[in-house]
Amino acid sequence: MATKRDYYEVLGLARGASAEEVKKAYRKLAIQYHPDKNPGDKKAEERFKELSEAYEVLSDTQKRQMYDQFGHAAAGGPGGFDFQGFGGGSASINDIFGDIFGDLFGAQASGRTRTGKRRSGGKPGDDLRTSVDITFEEAAFGCEKVMAIPKSVQCDTCTGTGAKAGTQPETCSQCGGHGEVSFQQGFFAITRPCSRCSGSGQTIAHPCLTCSGTGQIKKRSQIAVKIPAGVDTGQRLKLTSEGEAGERGGPPGDLYVSIHILPHDFFTRDEFDVICEVPVTFTHAALGAEIEVPTLEGKVKLKIPPGTQSHKILRLKNKGLARLGSYGRGDQLVKIIVEVPSKLTTEQRELLKRFEETSGGEITHPMHQNFFEKVKNLFG
Ligand SMILES: [Zn+2]
Ligand SMILES: [Zn+2]
Repeated sequence: MATKRDYYEVLGLARGASAEEVKKAYRKLAIQYHPDKNPGDKKAEERFKELSEAYEVLSDTQKRQMYDQFGHAAAGGPGGFDFQGFGGGSASINDIFGDIFGDLFGAQASGRTRTGKRRSGGKPGDDLRTSVDITFEEAAFGCEKVMAIPKSVQCDTCTGTGAKAGTQPETCSQCGGHGEVSFQQGFFAITRPCSRCSGSGQTIAHPCLTCSGTGQIKKRSQIAVKIPAGVDTGQRLKLTSEGEAGERGGPPGDLYVSIHILPHDFFTRDEFDVICEVPVTFTHAALGAEIEVPTLEGKVKLKIPPGTQSHKILRLKNKGLARLGSYGRGDQLVKIIVEVPSKLTTEQRELLKRFEETSGGEITHPMHQNFFEKVKNLFG
């Protein structure tokens, strides 16, 4: 996973590239690295494979959207992330997502000179983290949430320069705009960030009044977050460039949104299957019946065969959650819970006593009879 390159980087494109640009970039590079043109060249072959995979994802609107939010996690395909592979504890999901995003951080840090010595632009903005509560149904079908995120944004008055209207930041006289100063100590040249401009390479003689020269103001920003169908608690969405604004023209950070699904009255889930326990009277279980069960899309009729045992699971195909990162839906598993009457009328008691008397000799309760047969064999 760590060696997998960003698909945009593979095609040499910016994040916001149009569908036409994706196609053009792919065509150009695919011609260049096509195995027919580079016989026996392993590197070209690898590159060609990488290009094809990137194109497959970025040329498909739905896959691209998923990739933008989840990175390689959602792309599926060769080397893609297998969402079905970890239904276990939510802790492991966190770990896996942590790994992936750890890699993304690493990849971005080098591109952005997050801790770079010589900053050509300003300091990049910090990443932000938040969480969102969604209902079981919203997780099943996907939704859009508008969140108010307090964050620093670029100051409009000075367009982020920090300088008062009509003035410009000046090149720092101490470092000559390099943002760092070097001095000789014995054999070594030591470099440290410039103290006068704090490494930005610029100084501001007349600070902007709106932002006091910082180039940023604090604001509650409304951010619409598209949550894909099939998400689960503990998963995180990445919203590129929705974090804190960068300083003096530096790139903004990213926003990470953790998903938390609220408990449902009668649904739980196992990966993409919906689980629903349905209490059934013992007569219905014995005689068979047609009952109504709730699903994500309203009630459906379900036939219970005669002689259905408690905890029996009946399956409603394709009534589960969307398979995130794949196709189709899970099932709904209806777990039958047979309920014995908690009290009886006099007439019912009489009827049940007569029922008990009629059972002799025949195998009517196989589990019960089998169990006590074994006990008898063991203890005599
Ligand atoms: Zn300002
Ligand atoms: Zn300086």
